[in-house]
Amino acid sequence: GAVRSRNFIEEIIDADLAAGRHDHVLTRFPPEPNGYLHIGHAKAICLNFGLAQQYGGACNLRYDDTNPAKEDEEYVRSIEEDIHWLGFAWKNKLYASDYFEYMYECAVRLIKKGLAFVCDLSAEQIRETRGTLTEPGKESPFRSRSVEENLQLFEEMRAGRFADGEKVLRAKIDMASPNVNMRDPVIYRISHAEHHRTGSKWVIYPMYDFAHPLEDAYEGITHSICTLEFEAHRPLYDWVIENCECENVPHQYEFARLNLTRTIMSKRYLKRLVDEGVVSGWDDPRMPTISGLRRRGYTPASIRDFCERIGVAKANSEVDARLLEHCVREDLNAHAPRLMGVLRPLKLVIENYPEGRREMLAAEDLPGGETTHEVPFSRELYIEQDDFMEEAPSKKYFRLAVGKEVRLKNAYIIKCERVEKDEAGHVVKVICTYDPLSKSGDVNAGRKVKGTLHWVECQTAVPAEIRLYDYLLREDDAEGDFMERLNPNSLEVLQGFVEPEVLKARPGQQFQFLRQGYFCADAKDFSPEHVVMNQIVGLKDSFSK
Ligand code: ATP
Ligand code: MG
Ligand code: MG
Repeated sequence: GAVRSRNFIEEIIDADLAAGRHDHVLTRFPPEPNGYLHIGHAKAICLNFGLAQQYGGACNLRYDDTNPAKEDEEYVRSIEEDIHWLGFAWKNKLYASDYFEYMYECAVRLIKKGLAFVCDLSAEQIRETRGTLTEPGKESPFRSRSVEENLQLFEEMRAGRFADGEKVLRAKIDMASPNVNMRDPVIYRISHAEHHRTGSKWVIYPMYDFAHPLEDAYEGITHSICTLEFEAHRPLYDWVIENCECENVPHQYEFARLNLTRTIMSKRYLKRLVDEGVVSGWDDPRMPTISGLRRRGYTPASIRDFCERIGVAKANSEVDARLLEHCVREDLNAHAPRLMGVLRPLKLVIENYPEGRREMLAAEDLPGGETTHEVPFSRELYIEQDDFMEEAPSKKYFRLAVGKEVRLKNAYIIKCERVEKDEAGHVVKVICTYDPLSKSGDVNAGRKVKGTLHWVECQTAVPAEIRLYDYLLREDDAEGDFMERLNPNSLEVLQGFVEPEVLKARPGQQFQFLRQGYFCADAKDFSPEHVVMNQIVGLKDSFSK
């Protein structure tokens, strides 16, 4: 690809390697298996796995499964499928839940050093006594418990003597710290929920800010890259590593998370769309999940290209969703075979074409490419309703109208003679004549007509369910719950026709429908008996920098 300047994380790694602080790079991608991955995760995947590739290092896949209530094996499977599909491979597949014993020992070490205490305040009381940016917090009355009492109580917490929320373990740091995260943060809580891997073995679970640095240190991660909201948590990250006396000392670096216009980017909200039946599932082609994008027809290369182009920044911003579309359009323009498909069919009869005759014409698979496929042609065709008007509205109208000529792509020049209408006055049939000598290679082939239309032949055309998509969110930035901002027209289903070549498609395969856009055979619902095509993107690029 194009040469770009090095991002700030690469500069840090370069400096670390040059100074001998590290002699290798080990990153990690740490999803919580509580939902499907989305395009924001794709950015973190491309970054972490990409850096590992670039520096000849490695990247671990680590499930951050420290929250038993929300996690599930279905999510674990989907995460692995998505990472592989994006084109990456992890060094080790690990689970934070495998380190629970280690984390427990680290917590005990903190207690013994007088750096952690069991607190009986409720979550509500802890929040209330935390203070604010301008006001220091209040020390817990349980802060002065003895080491022995804390060890005893923590052991009892582990043994299941207490109910959820009855007690927590807190780090003893500084209630007057200007950084709220350092004001005796909770590091263990009680939860009697069933864990997807450890079952009921554990009833105490480490909090993210305690667990994450320990996971990184345990694995020997060199560069732990996370999103900007954790910047203020970094002092706590370093505190945990230092006071637990970890052998490996990883460092945390923060980058701006990806936000996309008109796109819901939170697993919690995406889950609501699934649970409330707004979409057909996590892989609904309208979803910004990796599985949704895959089913929509996005290619892994286009998503990697997108992540490369948006780069790594230190300030949050919103990226235009049309840049993502631009990337897939560019990829498909180069690679997607061309077909003709008519989305809103209008019957066309060529009255001077012999009845009962059918010829096979050659159509290029790619413009200027070497391979072609055959397209049947005969007296009765479908064209696009949008390509016909009874009366041309202006001289600049280059589509079909009574008395006008157009070329049919890969075929002949035709002229519209007249129309047939139904009782309501709608045109139901367009009657044309053709110029038999106007086919490619024939004497009139070079005759100039302004418009070229796509078409399909009635007898052989394959009926197709065509799914057109729009953004899940309306364009206006109305306030309020995202459920009230949903676009009621995000899915439109048409009954169209596609040339017979489409029967050879494999589920998931992408095509360009000439003049219409990019479509793929739906990975779940497509079969030769029931052709279902998803619109990926239109042809026209509306993205501007
Ligand atoms: P969500 O808020 O959507 O639930 P999350 O951050 O809670 O996302 P995790 O499973 O914890 O989800 O994320 C795994 C990794 O992906 C984290 O390192 C996180 O920083 C990164 N990540 C998540 N969302 C984005 C995003 N929008 N842009 C960049 N990275 C992201
Ligand atoms: Mg998270
Ligand atoms: Mg989350």
